[in-house]
Amino acid sequence: MSELQGLVLKNYNGYYYVQVGEVTYTCKVKGKMKQNRFSLATGDQVLLEPGEQKGACAYEGMIKKVLPRKNFLPRPIMANLDLFVVTFACATPDFSFLLADKLLALAELAQIPSILVLNKLDQAPAGLVDEVRAVYEPLGYKVFAISAQSGTGVAALREHLKGKICAFGGPSGVGKSSTINAIDSKVDLRTGEVSEKIGRGKHTTRFAQLLPFDEGYIADTPGFGNLLLEGMEQEQAVAAFREFAQYEGGCRFCPCSHTHEPVCGVKEAVAAGQIAASRYESYLAMLEEIRLLKEKEGRK
Ligand code: ZN
Repeated sequence: MSELQGLVLKNYNGYYYVQVGEVTYTCKVKGKMKQNRFSLATGDQVLLEPGEQKGACAYEGMIKKVLPRKNFLPRPIMANLDLFVVTFACATPDFSFLLADKLLALAELAQIPSILVLNKLDQAPAGLVDEVRAVYEPLGYKVFAISAQSGTGVAALREHLKGKICAFGGPSGVGKSSTINAIDSKVDLRTGEVSEKIGRGKHTTRFAQLLPFDEGYIADTPGFGNLLLEGMEQEQAVAAFREFAQYEGGCRFCPCSHTHEPVCGVKEAVAAGQIAASRYESYLAMLEEIRLLKEKEGRK
């Protein structure tokens, strides 16, 4: 039988769910591929060999090959994202410039375009939305201030997500699920349905799941925890701040960490207000966190 190309929607109980046109195939992978931890991710395009059809809606298959990825997010593992939607609340919990910069950094390093969503607009402290816009919009990050509850701003966000494979990331309590529901009430975020069908009991997965939405897909990503920067190198932190590069010509040393070096174009740009102070503070905090993580690793 000829091979089919499909999109991996999720991994669940040892099976991969692969969308081919209107049909979802429940797939196993070839033995050799299982040995590689990152051999398959949500969002992968794969070639599968369909098996014998067992019932009217039971399509099974064997995944033979993963097609080349355009990008890859290691945690949670996802491939081929068109957009990373960094989601925060304006209040409860408060917006965190540091956490926003960490999430944007992960996407930047994975070469995934990102936007910022600020939910709970009705609770925003005076000036917050303007402050966030002033920092991120000049860098090319679009900022969408919305209220999932009242619907303010949701239409513009929906329009921007249309037709894309999007992953939502952000701290818990910011209203990611209600934002996704406000965008499309048909997107069903509930899990556990599959486990009932295949009778294996409840099972929580750390895999992100792609849900169909307006000719594209949406994924709510599982919690990022405290390990956001694990495995990141100092040079990567530099590269994750897209606005630094244009000022590095002014650094005496190459590479420059933009910290203790006496002549540094980046530090000058911060002093002159050309680079936002909050971004530079996030950068320093991330360097310190990377250093501590490495120290911990070294002690093991
Ligand atoms: Zn420098």
